Amino acid sequence: MKTVIVGANHAGIAAANTLLDNYKDQQVVMIDSNTNLSYLGCGTALWVGRQIDSYENLFYTNKEAFEAKGARISLETSVTSIDFANHVVHCQKADGTCFDETYDKLVLATGSLPISPKLPGCDLEGISFLKLFQQGQEVDRWMSRDDVRSVAVIGAGYIGVEIAEAAKRRGKEVRLFDIAPTSLASYYDPSFTAVMDKNLADHGIECHFGERVVAYHGENGRVSAIEAEKGTYPADLVINAIGFIPNNELGRDHLELFSNGAYHVDRRQRTSDPDVYAIGDCATVWSNALNAETYIALATNAVRSGIVAGHNIGGTRLDSIGVQGSNGISIFGYNMVSTGLSVAAATRAGLDVCHADYEDLQRPGFMRENASVKIRIVYERESRRVVGAQMASTEDISMGIHMFSLAIEEGVTIDKLKLLDIFFLPHFNQPYNYITMCALGAE
Ligand SMILES: Cc1cc2nc3c(=O)[nH]c(=O)nc-3n(C[C@H](O)[C@H](O)[C@H](O)COP(=O)(O)OP(=O)(O)OC[C@H]3O[C@@H](n4cnc5c(N)ncnc54)[C@H](O)[C@@H]3O)c2cc1C
Repeated sequence: MKTVIVGANHAGIAAANTLLDNYKDQQVVMIDSNTNLSYLGCGTALWVGRQIDSYENLFYTNKEAFEAKGARISLETSVTSIDFANHVVHCQKADGTCFDETYDKLVLATGSLPISPKLPGCDLEGISFLKLFQQGQEVDRWMSRDDVRSVAVIGAGYIGVEIAEAAKRRGKEVRLFDIAPTSLASYYDPSFTAVMDKNLADHGIECHFGERVVAYHGENGRVSAIEAEKGTYPADLVINAIGFIPNNELGRDHLELFSNGAYHVDRRQRTSDPDVYAIGDCATVWSNALNAETYIALATNAVRSGIVAGHNIGGTRLDSIGVQGSNGISIFGYNMVSTGLSVAAATRAGLDVCHADYEDLQRPGFMRENASVKIRIVYERESRRVVGAQMASTEDISMGIHMFSLAIEEGVTIDKLKLLDIFFLPHFNQPYNYITMCALGAE
């Protein structure tokens, strides 16, 4: 059995490892157009902001590791088209030479592409994106220049907010734009984003929320300003972090697609072609909160979907258990984590939800080290099923969100959380734990 995997980043790597580690009869071929594999984009802002020493440890595997396991791997090789009827993948190397690869099973792991707004001036030098390692390097090079004083970041999702922090840490004048009225609007409700927005402003980031960027302006071919609805602002470097679209170029004329163009897959990662699987950012996921197919581009989902595809191709039936879109962010020491749906997201999706809020000290008042913790639990009015949770603190409260992820996955009601056995130890929490207190506060 020969499996060809197109795209050798997080999703493709997970599928390849699953096949190579568990199914010795499998012949695995990996093809990727990039020069490297396994780059952890989550480290770009840490590196650009000099919170880590170098980018070298942001790669967790390499070509040689797969060759040692018996895979054939071609980097700097693009798949130009696929003959789905005859099971042939047409490839072109960086030097222009072409070759074909046949397959029994094909895995599409082609990921996502950053949204590139076609605004006036978009061809100017100094307008960057943050996806590939090479783009992170480019942004870092720009940041290192003394003549780059003003940085404009477009998009205040987690990538935009993180790179805005990094630019500030590098001593730049930073403006952060978003058409939404707050930062992180897709994942958190306003009572949470308000704290993050203040955190950003307190650290000197000029937030322009509810303000659409309409054009880039330049001098001598290089960006010098950004025009938004309420004004024109200096910008020696622009970083676009508006979001991502699934990269469906190879299969869009052949495979069934979701509303945003992602490959529609079943719980075994199979596309509408029985011999073709799709994983990671190019495919849909099943949302347990929505009870519906959706699109959530995260490395965590990419890895899990690769594992599921690998086992099913290898011969072990494995169904995905769905996802909650659990995520976290830490900006200037303020931590926010969420899973499932915010009230706003649930309402947009047509769910009738209630929420419970609670805020308290993390530990008993007698503890010297302490900080406030904020929590919101979102649940369906009728069924009382938990569909989301948000938590925020300067403390590391991140691990608590995983319990809510499991609660959503398992369809647990808010009432079940009220008397849940949660331990107490002053070093960690209060006798009246904030999760218990929040759940008890539910209608
Ligand atoms: C700055 C940044 C920070 C992030 N932080 C986090 C985080 O903290 N946590 C988290 O969970 N997620 C994070 N993500 C998201 C995460 O990186 C993606 O969800 C993940 O990369 C998806 O993996 P993938 O393998 O599906 O796709 P991709 O990483 O997009 O990889 C697709 C691969 O396919 C190759 N390819 C595409 N087309 C072809 C072709 N025709 N021929 C050959 N090769 C092809 C590409 O070269 C690429 O290597 C972050 C993303 C960015 C950009």
